[in-house]
Amino acid sequence: MDAMQMHQMDEASARRRQQEMINLEAALRRIEQGDFGLCLECDEEINPERLEIEPTALFCIQCAQANESNME
Ligand SMILES: [Zn+2]
Repeated sequence: MDAMQMHQMDEASARRRQQEMINLEAALRRIEQGDFGLCLECDEEINPERLEIEPTALFCIQCAQANESNME
């Protein structure tokens, strides 16, 4: 792996960490407001199993998938 690829991987993981921090802060705010575990998009409850895997999840699985496919 060359230096250029290393650099790109560093940037990608830094961005991911930053996004995780943002998600974590949003999750904490939602706990304070009492709407933790509700989808930000459709207000449906997020599957508890999904929250266990990803406690900072802001969207139910349907909306998360819709968002991801929009992003790609
Ligand atoms: Zn949803």
